Amino acid sequence: MKKEELLAQVNRALRSCKKCRLCRTRTNVVPGEGSSSAEIMFVGQCPGFHEDQQGLPFVGRAGELLNELLTSINIKREKIFITNIVKDRPPENRDPMVDEVRACSPYLERQIKILNPKLIVALGRFAAEFFIPDGKISSIHGQPHRVKGLLILPLYHPAAALRSPGVLEELRRDFKQIPKVLAGEVEVKEIINNKVPENQMSLI
Ligand code: URA
Repeated sequence: MKKEELLAQVNRALRSCKKCRLCRTRTNVVPGEGSSSAEIMFVGQCPGFHEDQQGLPFVGRAGELLNELLTSINIKREKIFITNIVKDRPPENRDPMVDEVRACSPYLERQIKILNPKLIVALGRFAAEFFIPDGKISSIHGQPHRVKGLLILPLYHPAAALRSPGVLEELRRDFKQIPKVLAGEVEVKEIINNKVPENQMSLI
């Protein structure tokens, strides 16, 4: 089956998903969007108000900043795939709970297996911790890591950058790493023997 059809299967499963309480408060599930031949996957935390309204990822202010950052490195949004760890908006924009992450992460893991991206950009503390155990975003941002065969680049979340000019400056600088990481020009930290707590990736 083609990648596009496999991704559509995931979307269908998500639309009828009732694996956690978030299905009761969502307006729309937000499976993710982008190219089925994407080499880069961006993974955020969870949908916010605008994403929930439209059923699309990163369409609010953080999404506008993400678009600007992508343009700054000549990457077209339609060439990448953008999604989140959790596909439904938590009420009042609270952080997702551990059992919600556990319920939702098989969908992300399936998307990763289908796309088999060269690079996963983890946006923000929450996504970074999902992929990189014990990874503190303030110390690991901008540094590529190899975890379970996946190349992960943790970056600050665009929403955090909107709140802090210092974080925005770091995020702009880290974005410039993306083409270099793809070209193999940046040293990659290998993560071996990682633990798999409940809120982290169990992939592969
Ligand atoms: N923040 C996220 O983490 N994801 C979105 O889709 C929007 C805002």
